[in-house]
Amino acid sequence: CGIVAYVGPKEAYPVILKGLKRLEYRGYDSSGVALLNSGLKVYKKKGKVAELEDSLLGKDVHANIGIGHTRWATHGEPCDRNAHPHQSENGKLAMIHNGIIENYSQLKNELVKKGYNFISDTDTEVLLKFIEDIQKNNNCSLEEAVRIALKRVVGAYVIVLIDQDNPDTLIAARKGSPLVIGIGKGEHFLASDASPIIEYTKEVVYVNDYELAIIRPDELILKNLGNEKITPYVTKLDMEL
Ligand code: GLU
Repeated sequence: CGIVAYVGPKEAYPVILKGLKRLEYRGYDSSGVALLNSGLKVYKKKGKVAELEDSLLGKDVHANIGIGHTRWATHGEPCDRNAHPHQSENGKLAMIHNGIIENYSQLKNELVKKGYNFISDTDTEVLLKFIEDIQKNNNCSLEEAVRIALKRVVGAYVIVLIDQDNPDTLIAARKGSPLVIGIGKGEHFLASDASPIIEYTKEVVYVNDYELAIIRPDELILKNLGNEKITPYVTKLDMEL
């Protein structure tokens, strides 16, 4: 029910962990993070964010890019396996999702026929493997594959992906679920609302429905699903911590 992501010079994990705690008021049953350093590491757990934190004590959490999620289960019981982030079949992509993919069972049937395996019972893993399949078949960029996939998706979502092959880039999109991007100096923050962002920057962009964001430490590109660039509308937060 909440998302946080970071790309920039800071350690991503503490920023994400703190952000997830700020979003706890929204309610959730599990949480998880994916961190990209030399490889992709995914940690997830049923229960409170503090339990995820405890389970990561002593683990390698060093990374300058990462995504975090608190889940309110809609498809599949609350358990470690169904918690987000989910990973692509080739292990290179990790994705978090808030919302519901309504036509997931139809998409899942198509993917099962093609030989895809599903580890979780979630609609989220279906969308991720649908994106992966499009990228494989069209030999296109991840951004392009996300755009094609979202044209076929029915439902509400905010999604954020990281890709082992492009370790400086977050890709995010929304329809119907909230997404705020915080603009820092050589860094960007993403969250479901401004509360995880406010302590780092007051400059934010509220992403609109059917918009896709390509986010690097020094760059924020917003596009519509027709691949046309949109000028980000930067607003100043007037809330205090
Ligand atoms: N539908 C997804 C799931 O059940 C996401 C739920 C959420 O918004 O947290 O895993």
